Amino acid sequence: MLKRVLVANRGEIAVRIIRSCREMGIETVAIYAEEDTDALHTQLADQAICIGRGDVRKSYLNISNVISAALLTGVDGVHPGYGFLSENATFARTLQNVGLVFIGPEADLIDRMGDKARARQTMMEAGVPVVPGSAGTIEHMKDALEEAQRIGFPVLVKAASGGGGRGMRISLDEADFQEAFSQARSEAEIAFGDGSVYIEKFVQKPRHVEVQILADHYGNVIHLGERDCSMQRRNQKVVEEAPAPGLTAEVRAGLHEAAVKAAQFVNYRSAGTLEFLLAPDGNFYFIEMNTRVQVEHPVSELITGVDIIAEQIRIASGEPLQYRQEDICFRGHAMECRINAEDPTRNFMPSPGLIEELHLPGGFGVRVDGAIYQGLTIPSRFDSLLAKLIVHGKTRDEAIARMRRALSEFVITGPKTNIEFQLKLTGLKEFREGQIHTGLILEKNWSE
Ligand code: ADP
Ligand code: ADP
Ligand code: MG
Repeated sequence: MLKRVLVANRGEIAVRIIRSCREMGIETVAIYAEEDTDALHTQLADQAICIGRGDVRKSYLNISNVISAALLTGVDGVHPGYGFLSENATFARTLQNVGLVFIGPEADLIDRMGDKARARQTMMEAGVPVVPGSAGTIEHMKDALEEAQRIGFPVLVKAASGGGGRGMRISLDEADFQEAFSQARSEAEIAFGDGSVYIEKFVQKPRHVEVQILADHYGNVIHLGERDCSMQRRNQKVVEEAPAPGLTAEVRAGLHEAAVKAAQFVNYRSAGTLEFLLAPDGNFYFIEMNTRVQVEHPVSELITGVDIIAEQIRIASGEPLQYRQEDICFRGHAMECRINAEDPTRNFMPSPGLIEELHLPGGFGVRVDGAIYQGLTIPSRFDSLLAKLIVHGKTRDEAIARMRRALSEFVITGPKTNIEFQLKLTGLKEFREGQIHTGLILEKNWSE
């Protein structure tokens, strides 16, 4: 078992990882950018080491600094969290080369699934349905237009290295295709240093349903059920829940089966997520695999009782899975609201600054995964996620009522937050009735 782990991240996920490590008797080392000297993860870890300042490329994305920190502090493993270096194969490979354990899948697997166009191909070979689209990435405008015509408009031009909802553009018809194509390419080039794009049919009013997988080094693969993440703004998740409401037993079983089959096909090892779009007609299509822990993993933890971070660490340590599929019991309904430092009245512009007052909600069935405290100044440089409010109830209705009760207790003054916005969202008639799809938030008139 790993004895000392470096947490190569910041914010709530760094705190989340430190918490599981401590319960497992594993020592932790935090890395921090100078702007994060007072951050919670910096303070909670057994040791903390500064790895740079300024642009994230000089700190949390600086592979040589992160690995030097790991070697200097004598850790035996590194947990990458999500974002940053979590899906960087070079990072995983370099760690392995210096004799450290990367808590995640092998580097080759990250390569194979990280390129979203390549992952589509692999899933087709595995017999998993994918969204109709181009066979691979497309470089030239002329070829791209031909592909789009073959697939049929509307289409989505997507970055092969994309993530976090960035690098994708919709094209409604031939007239706007050229613009969408070149915009997606340049956005991808800037955001991911890789301008390659592929094309998918734009699925109308889909739901985003994903399946959490755990797989060990001995060929055991299990799933922890599905999550619905259809409540999105600009292709970014805002509210997530488990189980997905209103699925037929057949669709649910089909999703689970496809996810396990996909993980088995690529010999997956670690925690991972298969993301699907579920069309209104009940057909589902693979969109991508995230070879890392996801932001919304706690909703699966609450309905299964499995600590996904702890399992990830055990798997990376070479231990067999502690659970067989039949050991996993699904209980009740869980829901998560992402609490961001942003101003909904100013187009969700980030709103960093000093947290003057903070009151966290509590009580029966309420969990807060955060990285904030009163007196902390939220730096402007990083992600705007402050905390995740996660609740569990016997039923979906109970979870919604509990979420709204907890949201109404939550007080943060200083930075503007989306707490009020979340109250409006969870109060929507369509949401309460489970009539959700990825375009619902955009459809609504929020000025009322
Ligand atoms: P999840 O997939 O876990 O639900 P997000 O899509 O919001 O969550 O991604 C989690 C974090 O990782 C966000 O901060 C996002 O900006 C970042 N991220 C995800 N994919 C990439 C990527 N390919 N490159 C850079 N950052 C990414
Ligand atoms: P990222 O890597 O940024 O997470 P994904 O490929 O997972 O990108 O897509 C993110 C979201 O974008 C999906 O949850 C969905 O809302 C929307 N989306 C992606 N592909 C399609 C598609 N082909 N049709 C309709 N919506 C899509
Ligand atoms: Mg995704």
